[in-house]
Amino acid sequence: MTKRALITGITGQDGSYLAELLLSKGYKVFGLRRRTSMPIMENIEHLKNDIEFIDGDLLDLGSLINAVRISDPDEVYNLAAQSFVATSWIQPVATGQATGIGVTNMLEAVRLTKPEARFYQASSSEMFGKVVETPQKETTPFYPRSPYGVAKVYGHWITVNYRESYNMFACSGILFNHESPRRGIEFVTRKVTDAVARIKLGLQNELRMGNLDAKRDWGFAGDYVKAMWLMLQQDKADDYVISTGETHTIEELVEIAFSHVGLNWRDYVVVDQKFVRPAEVDLLLGDCTKAKEELGWELEVGFEQLVKMMVDSDLEKHKTRLNVE
Ligand code: NDP
Repeated sequence: MTKRALITGITGQDGSYLAELLLSKGYKVFGLRRRTSMPIMENIEHLKNDIEFIDGDLLDLGSLINAVRISDPDEVYNLAAQSFVATSWIQPVATGQATGIGVTNMLEAVRLTKPEARFYQASSSEMFGKVVETPQKETTPFYPRSPYGVAKVYGHWITVNYRESYNMFACSGILFNHESPRRGIEFVTRKVTDAVARIKLGLQNELRMGNLDAKRDWGFAGDYVKAMWLMLQQDKADDYVISTGETHTIEELVEIAFSHVGLNWRDYVVVDQKFVRPAEVDLLLGDCTKAKEELGWELEVGFEQLVKMMVDSDLEKHKTRLNVE
């Protein structure tokens, strides 16, 4: 029988990779899409005839109940969120509503309409923020350092609470940073790879950055959505850390990206205090032993390969726009 999945956040980075994965497995995929004055469909343009879109918003419970009724899902992946940490200081209330309360709305829609559906919540390593132990695993206490991290902690615990209160199959994936050519342009990896492509093509002459010493555990989004799917195929719902177990500095990211196109980053990068976070997270480094052992999850794309893939993609995009070889 064809499995049915509802994905919120379908237009985002992870939504598009997850939709591809589920379609390749023969799922019928439904995507929750909110109304915007200028819809951005770039990530899923190539899938738009394969996905059934349902209008709705995480802030509108009725629209979510409607989405669950229409899709009648076996699996629900709640990926929608205000996902950019920097914006969460400028819009802390909106972030709390979408990234925190939105999870309860989605859980309620499932509980009231199709409680046997399996539920995935997109939790985040930003919940660890001020690090109590390194590396961080499922049992590490949370200490978020941004309104985004705080909202994600709420979303995480409400997911655990619905599992325990209502016996729902609700899992939370604590994912460390994951990137791809489809990453939003405001995120540091994409900001760098896009700037490198523009500098290489003569469209820009400098790149302004915050703290170059900040370290992150960065993986490839295509690998991470496989872990989301695996979590919902288990006999028992549980929470898992998904990470590479390696950290790299922003300086390493910049170095790999510039040297991939034959440039020296020191000639172009300017450190600007404007881009330094009000409260920086400590060293985020994930221990994903549980996911490897229990889910059989494996990483396929390493850090250097990921950065080069993103630079190549941005070069192609800009060349196409400029209509050059
Ligand atoms: P994106 O920012 O690329 O996508 C976010 C999606 O959420 C978009 O489709 C956006 O729609 C949608 N959305 C935002 N607000 C609402 C709302 N009120 N109602 C309905 N939809 C909404 O995020 P990613 O794909 O990178 O991440 C997916 C999830 O995983 C997010 O929850 C993120 O916080 C979390 N996460 C991501 C990590 C990463 O490194 N990528 C790490 C850990 C967790 P629209 O197009 O209309 O804006």
